[in-house]
Amino acid sequence: MSRWPAHLQETAPKKTRCRRCGTDIWTALHQCFDLALDPIPLAQLGELAALLTGARTYHRVNDHLYRRNTVSIANNPNPHHGTIHRTHHCQPPPPEEQRNTRDRHTPQDTCPY
Ligand SMILES: [Zn+2]
Repeated sequence: MSRWPAHLQETAPKKTRCRRCGTDIWTALHQCFDLALDPIPLAQLGELAALLTGARTYHRVNDHLYRRNTVSIANNPNPHHGTIHRTHHCQPPPPEEQRNTRDRHTPQDTCPY
């Protein structure tokens, strides 16, 4: 028996391939809905582009997914932990400038004291 109510059940993202376009995607069960996500992490510009095209975005922290909404985006536009991913819609991957490729432990992030 699951310890979570049915409406909150979720699974960790699992790598697979899209049946239509053949690209690598992640699938997961999130609050009882099947999700297909692009595994390429997005930068802020990439998240904005995804939202403007009607895709939803999710914050992945370890094996948990959190839906991004106006409050979470406004309060934490560029999370220091985890990565942001868009729902998969059989379209080309985001261009390089929209991807999150920064090193998460750059010297600027280190406390000088
Ligand atoms: Zn596809």
